[in-house]
Amino acid sequence: MSETYTAGLSDEETARLIMRLAEWGLIYDSVLVWFSQVEFDTREIDSLMDTPSAGRRREKHKFALPEGHKVSAIAFMNPELIGALGSDPRRAKRFLGLLFDYVLPRDSNWKETVTVECSCGSPHTLLPCEWLALLKTKKWVPVRKGDEESEDYEPQAASAQNLEELLGDGLNEIIREDDNIQLLKHLGFNTLELQIRRRSEGDKTREESIRDQLATIVAQASEEDLGILETIVGSEHELSTIVDIANERLKTRIVVRRNKEFGEAIQAIVEQIFHNLAFDIVPVYKGYDFDAYYKGDVEPDDLGSIELEAHDLLYLVEVKATRENEVRMTEAQAAIAVSNSDRYVLCVVDLGGKDLDQFGNQEEFKGAIKDSIFIIEGIGTKLEPVVATQQVSSAKEIEVEFVGRVRYLIRHSLWAREGNSLTVWIRERFHTD
Ligand SMILES: [Zn+2]
Repeated sequence: MSETYTAGLSDEETARLIMRLAEWGLIYDSVLVWFSQVEFDTREIDSLMDTPSAGRRREKHKFALPEGHKVSAIAFMNPELIGALGSDPRRAKRFLGLLFDYVLPRDSNWKETVTVECSCGSPHTLLPCEWLALLKTKKWVPVRKGDEESEDYEPQAASAQNLEELLGDGLNEIIREDDNIQLLKHLGFNTLELQIRRRSEGDKTREESIRDQLATIVAQASEEDLGILETIVGSEHELSTIVDIANERLKTRIVVRRNKEFGEAIQAIVEQIFHNLAFDIVPVYKGYDFDAYYKGDVEPDDLGSIELEAHDLLYLVEVKATRENEVRMTEAQAAIAVSNSDRYVLCVVDLGGKDLDQFGNQEEFKGAIKDSIFIIEGIGTKLEPVVATQQVSSAKEIEVEFVGRVRYLIRHSLWAREGNSLTVWIRERFHTD
């Protein structure tokens, strides 16, 4: 409302004046106005529907809204106002500011369809939003005529290109709101492009990496997978939960691969010792599978087991790496150790304070741990009373730990005192004299 009408009036008097004028139908008291009947031409009505009406181009579509619904419109949005936007970029930008900041949060008609019975004889399912139809079908975006210096503008129909030109860096601010992105889609933008722009915040390297990540997903996932992913993303909290689970599984796969590689390194060391001592024994390595690690049936530092057959006895050598002063045995491992105490052997690989992840490859690992492998026989006998009573062993070298599940902690002092080097153990145990 022009200030000439309200000059000299207090705010209260102005408000009362506006109310009266609105009551008499002389002015609108709000930017948004609502109608229960409306008439569109075919182009306009098509712009509000997913599937075109199949009506003739000049046909009129007149309909009343069903009970409880109205068509939203922007006050004074008539051919003159639209024409005024198209010749003046500042005015067009102000209008867009009003649209994004005021209209979108107060009007949901531009995103919720309703089905109407139309004068053309067909029912239509459409967005009951007049301003949207006008923005999508009229020429209202000011585009510079001639060279860059020119102050002469002509109105064009909205497109991603001319709106991007008009808004400049202001677009970055606008696309922080999901609703704004949805509206820009109606005006010719690609939502994926806008989401990438929002996420990368103008950083070209980040943008490139997001595109690469998306390309991998599109290449690898089936359409069905993508549909499921979309549903997951749409439901609150699900995405982060599922990503956590997927990440856990991925980490487990890496552990399985790493431990197999290092377990085979231990087997190679054992084999070399047998070879050097001229024993005719072939060590057989068995790694743990994905489920064993994933379900926690074994520890992440468990490198698998090695089977050695000699003197009609099959030795089970359980290989555990540790960076600290203890190794942990699971309940299942303890049970096997107890019931096979004459042939279950614990093999501790002391990593000297390092993590398994810190070894680059098999050779580096072999070189680093060659002299830090300890063999403990009869661990089952020592475990038996601890398993039975769930009390710490008398020598305090085996403890029971309960953090969600039971673990038996074997202390460093035990293998420091009773452990043998691999060579000594093999020479003594497999001697044939
Ligand atoms: Zn119709």
